[in-house]
Amino acid sequence: MFFSHSRLETYENCPHKFKLQYIDRIKTGRKGIEAFTGSLVHESLEQLYRDLRMGHCLDAKEIETHYRASWRESFTNEVFIVRNQYSPDDYQEMGLKCLLDYHQHYYPFNQAVPIWLEQRVEIPLLNAEGRQFNFIGIIDRLDSPEDGRYEIHDYKTSMALPSEEKLKADRQLTLYQLAVERSFPDARGVELVWHYLVFDRERRLRRDSDAVEKVAMDAAALACEIESARDFPEKESELCEWCELQEHCCKRKHLYMVAQPAKRELGTEHGTELANRYQEWMDSKREADEHLKDLRKEILDYSAYYEADNLQGNSCVLKISHDRLPKIPRKGDAAREELERLLHERGAWEEVSVLNPRKLRSALSDKEMNDDLCEGVRSLIDWEDSATLRIYRR
Ligand code: SF4
Repeated sequence: MFFSHSRLETYENCPHKFKLQYIDRIKTGRKGIEAFTGSLVHESLEQLYRDLRMGHCLDAKEIETHYRASWRESFTNEVFIVRNQYSPDDYQEMGLKCLLDYHQHYYPFNQAVPIWLEQRVEIPLLNAEGRQFNFIGIIDRLDSPEDGRYEIHDYKTSMALPSEEKLKADRQLTLYQLAVERSFPDARGVELVWHYLVFDRERRLRRDSDAVEKVAMDAAALACEIESARDFPEKESELCEWCELQEHCCKRKHLYMVAQPAKRELGTEHGTELANRYQEWMDSKREADEHLKDLRKEILDYSAYYEADNLQGNSCVLKISHDRLPKIPRKGDAAREELERLLHERGAWEEVSVLNPRKLRSALSDKEMNDDLCEGVRSLIDWEDSATLRIYRR
């Protein structure tokens, strides 16, 4: 399998999406409008520099004409908008503004003649054990303004400027730096240049060989983890809204079908009806719990006042038993820590503690136990399916 920065990022954001996209190779044709706009802006800038190489410098009007024509030709119903307070036209104009600002900023583009444009590069990387993982990437533009000095340019249409910290944690352009250094042994210095087009701002960074090596090792380690992964769990986050594969994911399938009348299948309405019914019963239960709490207090007051522990109803006897239990201090309280310490110290912990299945599962999966212990525990337990229902209100 080939790896790339975006594949690693997909895995980090949601292993399940990685599986659907790169292992099951499901293609939907859907594309978020931000990605769509970004790709057209990239295309127009590529065209600008290709024409420049041929001795023709596109003026602002020509750039606009090229961009608008590409938009008209490529825009389909498969392009979706998540932030629906904005229209496709808003995004089209935002992309155009990026291009026009860029054009004005760098015109007449005599900073350097690009060596590479949208160039595919291959970057073999070794992990700590010496295993090779093959990375690929597309460099938006590579300039060499003077002998031995190279600049890797990357265009971004994101709506936020990254912090210095985030930029320093970059993986994408740092891996490209490796590809450039390997392709051009004369490279004396490589600079990474991001163009944040929405803000008409450039961010630059130089990375020394230690930083590059660390990024390469981390990328290879992550590739190794992905190759040996057996589980690809869904990781829900706000990014789910932009996921093109929602209809193939159990976390979002039903939400997606309800929102897309054309995609509704048999059973979609039944799912909605089940969710509604559950919500209604939970509301009734909550109301009943409130009443029961008040009633319980009234009963206990009555019982204490009349010293009567068994109350005769029409068809039942209500039995009230009294008990006195220790009130355990809350987790995080100093008293709780002290209590636990004391019980451990005096060897009484095991008598009063209970096994918690969730904690046991994380201890097993987070390798908190050594291998022998893990194996021993696994041999003594069975696994059972469990489900929790919760209501999220809009
Ligand atoms: S919808 Fe969310 S959880 Fe499902 S695959 Fe996409 S990103 Fe992952």
